[in-house]
Amino acid sequence: MQVVETDIAVIGAGGAGLRAAIAVAETDPGLQVSVVSKVLPMRSHTVAAEGGAAGVVRDNDSLAAHFDDTVSGGDWLCDQDAVELFVEEAPRQLVRLEHWGCPWSRTPEGKPDTRPFGGMKIERTWFAADKSGFHILHTLFQTSLQFPSIKRYDEFFSTDLLVDDGRVAGVVAIEVRTGEIYVFKAKAVIVASGGGGRIFPFTTNGAIKTGDGMAMAYRAGVPLKDMEFVQYHPTGLPGTGILLTEGCRGEGGYLVNKDGHRYLQDYGLGPATPEPRNKAMELGPRDRLSQAFWHEDQKGNTIQTPYGSAVHLDLRHLGEAKINERLPFVRDLATSYMLADPVKVPVPVRPVVHYMMGGIHTDIDAKTPIAGLYAAGECAAVSINGANRLGSNSLTELLVFGDRAGRHAAQFARDAGKADNTQRVDAQAKDHVQKIEALFGREERKEKTAELRRTMANALEEGCGIYRDEARIQATCETIADVRRRTAGLALQDRSKIFNTDLLSILELENMLEIAEAVAHSALQRKESRGSHQRLDHTARDDTNFLKHSMAHYQGTQTPTVDYLDVVITKSPPGERLYGGAAEAKAKKMEAAE
Ligand SMILES: Cc1cc2nc3c(=O)[nH]c(=O)nc-3n(C[C@H](O)[C@H](O)[C@H](O)COP(=O)(O)OP(=O)(O)OC[C@H]3O[C@@H](n4cnc5c(N)ncnc54)[C@H](O)[C@@H]3O)c2cc1C
Repeated sequence: MQVVETDIAVIGAGGAGLRAAIAVAETDPGLQVSVVSKVLPMRSHTVAAEGGAAGVVRDNDSLAAHFDDTVSGGDWLCDQDAVELFVEEAPRQLVRLEHWGCPWSRTPEGKPDTRPFGGMKIERTWFAADKSGFHILHTLFQTSLQFPSIKRYDEFFSTDLLVDDGRVAGVVAIEVRTGEIYVFKAKAVIVASGGGGRIFPFTTNGAIKTGDGMAMAYRAGVPLKDMEFVQYHPTGLPGTGILLTEGCRGEGGYLVNKDGHRYLQDYGLGPATPEPRNKAMELGPRDRLSQAFWHEDQKGNTIQTPYGSAVHLDLRHLGEAKINERLPFVRDLATSYMLADPVKVPVPVRPVVHYMMGGIHTDIDAKTPIAGLYAAGECAAVSINGANRLGSNSLTELLVFGDRAGRHAAQFARDAGKADNTQRVDAQAKDHVQKIEALFGREERKEKTAELRRTMANALEEGCGIYRDEARIQATCETIADVRRRTAGLALQDRSKIFNTDLLSILELENMLEIAEAVAHSALQRKESRGSHQRLDHTARDDTNFLKHSMAHYQGTQTPTVDYLDVVITKSPPGERLYGGAAEAKAKKMEAAE
């Protein structure tokens, strides 16, 4: 076992982790930062983001408008103090990236260009063609290299947090290349480990998105907030789940059913009961568009593919020049994976699990209830996304709250005296090491990791998909509890230390099961429909009982308990979510009244 003494450990080298590490280094170059990541930084999921990052920059836009879109998009489950801070800080963070070298696409006058995005009523999404995440991550990665206080531990898989007497003490990790176990002793830890979409069978998420950091914080005693809210993105490629960015619709793409009809005009995009005349059409928010797909499928209006039902994304009318300039990656992906060149033919697409609104409970400073423990990025719920995240808010969230986590953790590490806990922390670290080593000692292999994982993922899709009801969620809870019990029957086939992916798969599965259980139990208890959580047996939003964050608490081998926390409302009382024609009519009425 190797011990590394550091001031701050950051778990994750994606957008949030690198932004946080830079913020620590800028705040105090004297603080040692250890960035622990299970993959090389540029392989983090942030690299896959295509569409762009939201921030007010246009003359016709305002912070109030970005706030309103975010809060109504989140079906009023967002904490409004966090959203206010977020929209105000967003443009500064995007300009900061520009100064660090991010090649944003430009207008003919040379200003950063913006594109429309679903649920954003004004064009405010900054983009770098359709490779925005790649350029953002690359910019952060390059910038992080200039700080000697940042030391990276690439391909180190963290397994558990060390917590003593309500204060974080470090993190345990396995060096993947050698199998050696490392204990990072730190005054503060920032979890920036990304989402966990891989708990579902069909997702846009990279293979590494197994919710490890969420599970680590959860086991350490931090509640997971709003886990029932799982976002389906309406345009994934059948089979692979590869995303075709919302930028496709932002640039003017159509969604059509098997008869070539732009079916979104038939949906008001309300909850379970669709009403006609949706003028927002393809630029409605993701939850509503995915729900409209479900209704089209029920009506038999979808196209049948070997990988399930689909509709068509039609980009042909945009023309080859625009597709090549604005959506080159989309053309590549559709041609390579579907043999469908969008310049010539419509591309089959279907809703696919994309993002988890829920995550590690933090306050507005990215602080968790454990002293010295911070979280930012997709693994955290701060919470600006509420019941449904708007496309392009996540990349900006990484910057705003990654920066904030870094600055606050630096402050904490500077102020914190040295805790007198060496013996207890060492004993705890030893326990974790033994837990890992015990897996090497298990002889009989009664279960297969991949099979248990498939059972879990299918159960989640069945019970916690686009539409849910009591009986199916209950069945999912039971299946997950059963699969959790069966993980005790897993043993290693590969007993070597070097690049032992067999070991990592078991540890990932255990993490996934814990967060899957939090998703299912939070969904079971929320007896209303809000944002991405739509219940066929409770179709209305219920602000009296459920204008609250759910908080799932870890209970070891038992099922989690769920209680609730009030949502912070500062200036926007809960109202109706309006898009397209209805939103325009309301704006006109308000103008006339003024
Ligand atoms: C295909 C796709 C396209 C998207 N497009 C957009 C978009 O256009 N606009 C937008 O706003 N959002 C978009 N999103 C969402 C957004 O990209 C993500 O939410 C965001 O990038 C997550 O960043 P992160 O830093 O929190 O995590 P990630 O970038 O996922 O990084 C997680 C890091 O944690 C590390 N890690 C995880 N587990 C462990 C462990 N056990 N031990 C050590 N390290 C660990 C990983 O190695 C990695 O470095 C998209 C998402 C996807 C999947």
